[in-house]
Amino acid sequence: MTRYAVIGWPLGHSMSPAIHNASFEALGLSCRMEAVAVPPAGLDAFMRSLPSSGLCGVAVTIPHKAAVLTYCASVEPGAGKIGAANTLAVGEGGNLGAHNTDAAAAARALREAGVEVAGRRAVVLGAGGAARAICYRLLRDGAAHVAIANRTLSRAEALGRDLGRVCGAAGRVAAVPGSGAALEEALASAGILVNATSVGMSPRAGESPVPRALLRAGLAVMDIVYNPIETRLLADARRAGAAAIPGTEMFLYQAAEQERIWLGVEAPVEVMRKALLSGLGRSL
Ligand code: NAP
Repeated sequence: MTRYAVIGWPLGHSMSPAIHNASFEALGLSCRMEAVAVPPAGLDAFMRSLPSSGLCGVAVTIPHKAAVLTYCASVEPGAGKIGAANTLAVGEGGNLGAHNTDAAAAARALREAGVEVAGRRAVVLGAGGAARAICYRLLRDGAAHVAIANRTLSRAEALGRDLGRVCGAAGRVAAVPGSGAALEEALASAGILVNATSVGMSPRAGESPVPRALLRAGLAVMDIVYNPIETRLLADARRAGAAAIPGTEMFLYQAAEQERIWLGVEAPVEVMRKALLSGLGRSL
């Protein structure tokens, strides 16, 4: 049996074991993922014991995505530039490799929805870890401009400066407040809006990070919150005639990419989607 784990704190009811185990079963692989709650004070001990633990890979969630990097012998360039990893692979001799599949997953979710990134202007709400991966990828994929809109403006400014340097994109990224006239102006010229804040997440599912009046046809709206699947933002986007891409898509694709890294397989996304939707309380 090849073993994998998802680590985080608090781990809550992680969907990762359900979707990976459904995939392993569909692929006929003798693999299993378990959930391991690792508090910040326990991360050092977990990471030091990982090479000899028998685990072949780890999915990493909040709050460990940045801290795990220091334990890894190799860091894939994207994860290094983002400064965070959500995927660890235990290689030969217990050497740890760090990868970030969030960025590629966000790009795939947009691509599969028919959204062209190159040459378009985007607004990303949030300046946390997920926003960082998504903004990095949008800039790398040739977005004409990325406006980072955040409640705490100083965090958006710091992220914008950092990504401008890391991506050589200083003129293509800017920070704006998370509400008000500057956000309105940024949205008026944007083709893509991504919510990478936790606003709208259960149990505060009735909230949206953007007034409905700012949404319009021609805008592609991706909400990376996936519980609930249909967030208030997505419902508002649909009503306004905008394209709406649920956070389940990014979540599925980041997991599929993890299996490509761990096992070299093409993960059965539809099987994983069914497991995710049923885990989230809906069935296909
Ligand atoms: P994080 O690092 O903690 O960042 C949270 C962000 O949300 C910050 O920008 C924060 O703004 C903002 N925020 C929180 N509460 C807010 C409020 N009431 N009003 C306005 N802004 C608020 O978290 P993260 O790792 O980036 O994750 C963000 C969300 O994405 C979470 O809901 C997570 O579950 C989801 N996520 C989904 C996927 C997926 O695959 N679909 C992957 C990763 C993450 P301040 O800076 O002002 O505090």
